[in-house]
Amino acid sequence: MPPSPSSSPPSLLARLASSASLASRLSISRLFSSSPPAMEPTEDSLRKALAGRQAAVDAQGNAVRALKAGKAPKPEIDAAIKALNDLKIEKADVEKRLQAAVSGGAGDGALTREAFRHAVVNTLERRLFYIPSFKIYRGVAGLYDYGPPGCAVKSNVLAYWRQHFVHEENMLEVDCPCVTPEIVLKASGHVDKFTDLMVKDEKTGTCYRADHLLKDFCNEKLQKDLSISAEKAAELKLVLATLDDLSADKLGAKIKEYGITAPDTKNPLSDPYPFNLMFQTSIGPSGMLPGYMRPETAQGIFVNFKDLYYYNGNKLPFAAAQIGQAFRNEISPRQGLLRVREFTLAEIEHFVDPEDKSHPKFSGVADLEFFMFPREQQMSGQSAIITQLGEAVSKGTVNNATLGYFIGRVYLFLTHLGIDKGRLRFRQHLANEMAHYAADCWDAEIECSYGWIECVGIADRSAFDLRAHTEKSGVALVAHEKLAEPREVEKLVIVPNKKELGLAFKGNQKMVVESLEAMGEEEAFQLKAALESKGEAEFLVCAMGKSVKIKDNMVNISKQKIRENQRVFTPSVIEPSFGIGRIIYCLFEHSFYTRPNKAGDEQFNVFRFPPLVAPIKCTVFPLIQKPEYESVAQLISRSLTVAGVSHKIDITGNTIGKRYARTDELGVPFAITVDSQVDVTIRERDSKDQVRVSVGEVASVVKEVIDGHRTWSDVWSSFPHHTSASAED
Ligand code: AMP
Repeated sequence: MPPSPSSSPPSLLARLASSASLASRLSISRLFSSSPPAMEPTEDSLRKALAGRQAAVDAQGNAVRALKAGKAPKPEIDAAIKALNDLKIEKADVEKRLQAAVSGGAGDGALTREAFRHAVVNTLERRLFYIPSFKIYRGVAGLYDYGPPGCAVKSNVLAYWRQHFVHEENMLEVDCPCVTPEIVLKASGHVDKFTDLMVKDEKTGTCYRADHLLKDFCNEKLQKDLSISAEKAAELKLVLATLDDLSADKLGAKIKEYGITAPDTKNPLSDPYPFNLMFQTSIGPSGMLPGYMRPETAQGIFVNFKDLYYYNGNKLPFAAAQIGQAFRNEISPRQGLLRVREFTLAEIEHFVDPEDKSHPKFSGVADLEFFMFPREQQMSGQSAIITQLGEAVSKGTVNNATLGYFIGRVYLFLTHLGIDKGRLRFRQHLANEMAHYAADCWDAEIECSYGWIECVGIADRSAFDLRAHTEKSGVALVAHEKLAEPREVEKLVIVPNKKELGLAFKGNQKMVVESLEAMGEEEAFQLKAALESKGEAEFLVCAMGKSVKIKDNMVNISKQKIRENQRVFTPSVIEPSFGIGRIIYCLFEHSFYTRPNKAGDEQFNVFRFPPLVAPIKCTVFPLIQKPEYESVAQLISRSLTVAGVSHKIDITGNTIGKRYARTDELGVPFAITVDSQVDVTIRERDSKDQVRVSVGEVASVVKEVIDGHRTWSDVWSSFPHHTSASAED
């Protein structure tokens, strides 16, 4: 299913989610991170209070009019007018608080979400983290380039993904083509079902994603129309919470009920209908072999299952992984890197015995506690709750321990990258949102200025994918388990007559044999009946792309009692699927803050990336332009290169304050300033603290902190402190 960012109102979890320590220092991130005081009124109670104040204002207004009509004494009328004005002031106050509550808890003077986003995106584009693709030709919606710092962040995130998942679990990494023949995506269901619901402007033909229009309508009403009742607000929130659950009919009915029209023209809209998101192509010059740009990387792994299983010593469980580009022709790409038409996916397919979904390393993550948002909570309009993962699995909220294990590992991955724990939740799919074959699905959603965004999908897809490819290809994608004791079972036995098949099909014999052997019981007995009545039958061999004529002497089909030494079964697959661009964008927002200069008249932008993510780990500056300082800087630069620390030397004559500000804006965690030939300073980005370290030692100290073998506070307590004589601000 093409995902859509989930739409629960942002203020719900923002209130629960608190990371007050940093937020209190950081004016912009306070908007998203801080918790209001414990007794702060809820949005719901504020809506009720506002309705009450409005009624009081109306009643007092009537009273004033009645007094005036009845020619009451002036002092009496004046007192009533004063009471009316007081009520209006009270109402305005409640209105203001409600406005703050619906726009994410922002207090007086705080920047709005849009202003915050504007500041982040402006910095990202100006410093070339990312750039709209083909910009000089006015670009194409939904296509972006990563510039130098963006590329570095992306490759750091991917390197950590490999370390945290592929290496940790000995996964088998593969790299498959993006161009995929139609038959593969027909088998997987993408050709028929990989659709989003679209509506058209009935007059201009402009296309819109139907659920996005409904979502925008509800959000706008909730945030901008303060006069709606608490009941109406609850209804709109429920629509938002269950948006992914709506069928085409229900979505169409809601659009009609709310009178939603085309946003640009206000023209009426068509009923919603499905639009396939795949980019179609044809492979080779003849145009005879249809294909698609892959919409996900998973299929490349499924079609290689047989070989990978063999590579793994015919043992389960095992996981395969792939990082690569995916292509989706989104109806209305928007929200920058969050909804694009080409993006990097990192996917894991963990193959497991369906009868044993325990995980040997689950105990290692069972004690983790984080926000979980189970189906029941969503349906009843409640919020996500802090839950212990072990408890969620033992109670059955999460279907099995392997799924739980990956949820825990995803949590560790995201928070280690720098995603704020308070703005991360795991949301369970609603019943209709989940594919019918799936056993359970959870999305890791991250809150940013656009609301809650699905960044990682973690699904137990049961045996669907391998079965689908077995059926279509005729190659049995199954696993075997040796039984301790042989057992007697009644089984379908298909015995192809290889001699006859060889004579009839020559070089294609193997494909026909494999297709015959892969038949399910129903298909096999239909073929048997046809062979018995007519002596021959048409039989589709998908791998050949056509039907062939099978005669009754070519295959023997029966049911026999046989003694079995092994169990043959189709493995289940548990699939964590990571949208790398979405994770990176959320990381940008969660890392961004501004701080004033000493005079307080200018704001500087900072990305507080952890060293792991930072595009450049360190800068080297001679304090002033002096040949002896420059040669020390070159010497340190060489040591950093040898140590494998990415860095940048800046020997421009800019003030040191300006140079710090420029690198803070790129999120560089450490700066080495050369102001002597013996000692230099290391400055830490967020605290701006500086220590003095010898020239010979400095590269290894930085390397240790970057690699996480030493903390900055350890460095701070081990080396002399430096008080900067040159005001950096
Ligand atoms: P899905 O296969 O639809 O569950 O998508 C897997 C992951 O890909 C999602 O969790 C998102 O993080 C990411 N993703 C899906 N569609 C897009 C898109 N149009 N642009 C960027 N990332 C996407």
